[in-house]
Amino acid sequence: MPSLPPPRGRHFFANPGPTNIPDSVLLATAHASVDFNDPAFMAVYLKAREGLGRLLEMEEGEILFYTASGHGAWHATLCNLFSPGDRLLMIESGYFSESWGAMAERLGLTVSRVAADWRRGAALEAVEAALAADRNHEIKGLCVVHNETSTGLVFPVEALRPILDRLGHPALLLVDTISSFGSLPFAMTRWGCDAVVGGSQKGLMLPAGMSFTAVSPRALAAHQAARLPRGYFDWTLMLRRPHRSFMGTVPVTFFYGLAESLRLIEEETLQGVIARHHRLAEAVRAAIGVWARGENGRPGPALFCCDPARVSDSVSAILMPEGDDAETVRRLARERFNVSLGGGLGALEGRVFRIGHLGDLNEPMILGTLAAVEMSLALAGVPHGRGGVEAAMENLLATHRALERAR
Ligand code: PLP
Repeated sequence: MPSLPPPRGRHFFANPGPTNIPDSVLLATAHASVDFNDPAFMAVYLKAREGLGRLLEMEEGEILFYTASGHGAWHATLCNLFSPGDRLLMIESGYFSESWGAMAERLGLTVSRVAADWRRGAALEAVEAALAADRNHEIKGLCVVHNETSTGLVFPVEALRPILDRLGHPALLLVDTISSFGSLPFAMTRWGCDAVVGGSQKGLMLPAGMSFTAVSPRALAAHQAARLPRGYFDWTLMLRRPHRSFMGTVPVTFFYGLAESLRLIEEETLQGVIARHHRLAEAVRAAIGVWARGENGRPGPALFCCDPARVSDSVSAILMPEGDDAETVRRLARERFNVSLGGGLGALEGRVFRIGHLGDLNEPMILGTLAAVEMSLALAGVPHGRGGVEAAMENLLATHRALERAR
């Protein structure tokens, strides 16, 4: 078999995290070492931390940072808030709710789950019923993944605090916002969240390796009574440090990058960022809608999410027709067109591929990705409706015409 030509041109990175890093953020992270207690660095650090709080709409509480990926923040949050044997209620959403729940069990917690069809997400009524059945308030934490990156579904987190309050249930509300904050609407304090987990490598457009938990005063109080072994991630020890965060050396370069990514987001405005994500996501969904029509009576690849009210503006998961392998499409996109797509995770491996549309992206980047996907579907012999890219262009044009008119 002749060898493949070496890739040329820009690598199109369409994974749902890590995401594209803007040049100015990359340059900002290329910073020489500085003493992390130096007042000049401290000023950068404090400003970045403040900006992150604004992005989360956090009005009170603390942000604790870790030199770890999102898994580290999951771990830290659980071991700082609970005691051995405590019960959690995990709202099932997909691969990431499964993984977070499994981690809780490894740490010695008991996990009950609100079962869900991954294509529709859990019903709010089922969450309410599970909490109402817990008359003795054994459930200490209600955990939810805001944007399930493996399926492309958003959970209406804002509906959870009213349920807890209506029932008078004291469980802490823990939210994973790893693939939502900085891309989708989120309001930590207004939505009554107690612990919010985030990471550097998605909406913040930074390299992977830094994560955090934003913690409400209520969760900080619960921390005082929690008895799980904390090891490396001990909030009490962290809060005594000058940065009120981290154990050991502070990864300073992340904060130079974070300051720049926050500057970019604030320049565009958070509303502008959210609107751009929605616009690009709608274009992706327009293309998928055309592919899904299939060919010669055979169905085509379809949007995994079946609930239009819960579609994600940061990632689309695309379900292959029965018998077609998503990995073939991903391989062709990578080898032929230098485009990287997300794969199916866990039970969805081979069944789904994912287009990430979060972070530093614009229309031509999305259209280029969609064109590469459409060509890969054709090369792989996957039945699909033709004209997905045109549909995406039409969709974008309609939005831009409306924006021009409104100017
Ligand atoms: N939660 C969600 C929703 C994610 O998308 C991811 C990673 O993609 C994680 C948690 C785990 O984060 P990390 O891979 O940074 O450990």
